Amino acid sequence: MTLDYESLVAVGSIMGSGGMVVMDDTSCMVEVARYFMDFCREESCGKCVPCRVGTTQMYMLLTKITEGRATLADLDALEKLGDMVRSTSLCGLGQSAPNPVFSTLRYFRDEYLEHIEAGVCSAGVCSMSGGAAS
Ligand code: SF4
Repeated sequence: MTLDYESLVAVGSIMGSGGMVVMDDTSCMVEVARYFMDFCREESCGKCVPCRVGTTQMYMLLTKITEGRATLADLDALEKLGDMVRSTSLCGLGQSAPNPVFSTLRYFRDEYLEHIEAGVCSAGVCSMSGGAAS
């Protein structure tokens, strides 16, 4: 794809500091989403509840998935929580915090499902210590 502002916006991304991270199939996209959620919850100033509590709750749900302890109900909760955090947070940090979750779900939902339904991380990143959830 063309790398300019309009092209990135069209696929739901943003032109931030100009940095770019390139990943291949040895990256687990659930773990990638968890990594960025950890960053957001650390950076949250705590002024508003949706961002302060929501990012932490989303981080905990993503951790559950990477450890093989999650159910499809957790995935549903993750998406609903992301919608709430995005639409009710006061500033851009909270409003954009769920973006890595939504974009990885949009393009790599199969990776979420393999963690939850089969207890497998095909990238070999997650330990899946909890085994497949029933
Ligand atoms: S959304 Fe902004 S104002 Fe609200 S807690 Fe997060 S960083 Fe603070």
